[in-house]
Amino acid sequence: MAGRVTVVGFGPGDKGDMTGRAVTAIERADIVAGYTTYIRILEAQFPGKKYKATGMMKEVDRCRMAIEDAQQGLDVAMVSSGDSGIYGMAGIIYQLRAEMKADIDVDVVPGVTAASAAAAVLGAPLMHDTAFISLSDLMTPLERIMKRVDCAGQGDFIVCLYNPKSKGRPGYLAQAADILLKYRAPTTPVGIVRDAGRPDMTKTLTTLEELKGADVDMFCTVVIGNSQTYTADGLMITPRGYPVRNG
Ligand code: SAH
Repeated sequence: MAGRVTVVGFGPGDKGDMTGRAVTAIERADIVAGYTTYIRILEAQFPGKKYKATGMMKEVDRCRMAIEDAQQGLDVAMVSSGDSGIYGMAGIIYQLRAEMKADIDVDVVPGVTAASAAAAVLGAPLMHDTAFISLSDLMTPLERIMKRVDCAGQGDFIVCLYNPKSKGRPGYLAQAADILLKYRAPTTPVGIVRDAGRPDMTKTLTTLEELKGADVDMFCTVVIGNSQTYTADGLMITPRGYPVRNG
């Protein structure tokens, strides 16, 4: 019997932010596979499962193993944080299934992505058109990343930065901020949420001008407002355009 790989986005971390489908897929799986950090989060919430944890940068090997296990008839949950289809494992699983000519079922279970988890904490910053941009240049040339930042600036998109800063590339966030400052006021609101939906969550409200000096790492999502975004009562709000007096 053909097995299956369910590519599960389990949300930002807390079980309360997981969808019912994600919980079902993890509970019924023979094997739960994923990056070690994510497996640690799930082990606490789903004790007694069989887990296969692999380190960072082993994505292709991990997905290959999951498909091989499914070829043996097993039900594998391949987990990603947030949404498995947004900088997650869904794409590579489909690519490998084709390459390996594997006769298995693949399902993608969507989840609450970091941008929506962060937005809910910040107020209502994503009420208008938004660009998700990852600042990781591990697989994307830096030039293309910065071109996209520039286009988002020109288009007055709200910008959600994933993978905003790491030790290996400390300057990219400042570079992105400088590009956006060509189009946007220095006072443009910026929200930074670290560990959204996890016990150690922190949030910071700052401005585009101050972003360069802000404390940001890989556990943060950075939300940069558009030209209409404002802050009030510690919240970051982008008006949708409804005719209300204060918005
Ligand atoms: N598939 C994930 C994104 C993986 S890329 C999703 O849909 O959310 C990894 C990046 O996501 C991190 O560098 C960070 O920018 C963001 N991220 C993931 N989990 C987060 C969390 N709990 N809080 C804030 N940002 C998070």
